[in-house]
Amino acid sequence: MKRSTFLSTFFKILFVRVGVFFHPHFSEHDWPVIGRKYENFAEILKGLSHEKNVVIVEPPEAEEDLILLVHDRSYLDSLKKAWFYRGASLSVSGTHMALKMIKEGIIDRAFVFSCAAGHHAERGSGWGGTYLSCCGPAIYSYWKKYGRERFAILDTDSHHGNGTREIFRNEKDVLHVCFCSLNKVDGEKIDVDVGLTTTDEKYLELIDHEFYPRFKNFKPYLLFHNFGHDTCRGDYGDRGLSEDFFLKLARKVKGFTEEVCGGRYIIITHGGKRKDVAEYIFPEIIRILAE
Ligand SMILES: [Zn+2]
Ligand SMILES: [Zn+2]
Repeated sequence: MKRSTFLSTFFKILFVRVGVFFHPHFSEHDWPVIGRKYENFAEILKGLSHEKNVVIVEPPEAEEDLILLVHDRSYLDSLKKAWFYRGASLSVSGTHMALKMIKEGIIDRAFVFSCAAGHHAERGSGWGGTYLSCCGPAIYSYWKKYGRERFAILDTDSHHGNGTREIFRNEKDVLHVCFCSLNKVDGEKIDVDVGLTTTDEKYLELIDHEFYPRFKNFKPYLLFHNFGHDTCRGDYGDRGLSEDFFLKLARKVKGFTEEVCGGRYIIITHGGKRKDVAEYIFPEIIRILAE
């Protein structure tokens, strides 16, 4: 390695703040529900890889043992026959790596691209475009390796995160605040009705009032954020939100994590089919995380 290359790599590792977990395979397919929104991201991320404080990580496929920490053997065996299994497995692995790299002090925050995996996946079933859990294997694997720690999960996808809820229903160490159409408080499992149509301002106020105080009192080690953009105007979970709403949301929640949990924050992409929105907000959010 040339001395100049060595030095720039060395300083980059020293100052890396954000890991972006993405596999080129994500750009190759028309994924269930979310479609082709990652089509151009293999290229877009090449541009971002030169940014200060950002490192792009290509996750390997997940070990079966990692998936089996949460999912049933028979369910996994049937899922492995589906064409989208590889995408789901890479997404699980990306989330797991992100948490591990934060724990090891290599990065502070992470942006994880996900397809065919996410908040509708329960232990023995999955639907709505998500068939494996992302947070589940990451958290259970963390507990196994490093011991018990509290985690918070914020869900701002348009739809209820039934899978996340089922997996952590009896786990007192997991705060799950889900912004959807339900309205329920059951210990550390909370649903907040955002209204069929809302505004950027009203939604952000709900984040202040319904999420922040609970997050602060819970004092978790880290926050996972199931970050759907299907709530955007014209998308399939349209709640009337603008494109810029998502940047304001990421900035606000990042601020909360700095105050509450040392800035440890993992964003996992969720629902939303509008490719123009994904291409506008994801690079900007990565820059916000890198600031
Ligand atoms: Zn959704
Ligand atoms: Zn919910």
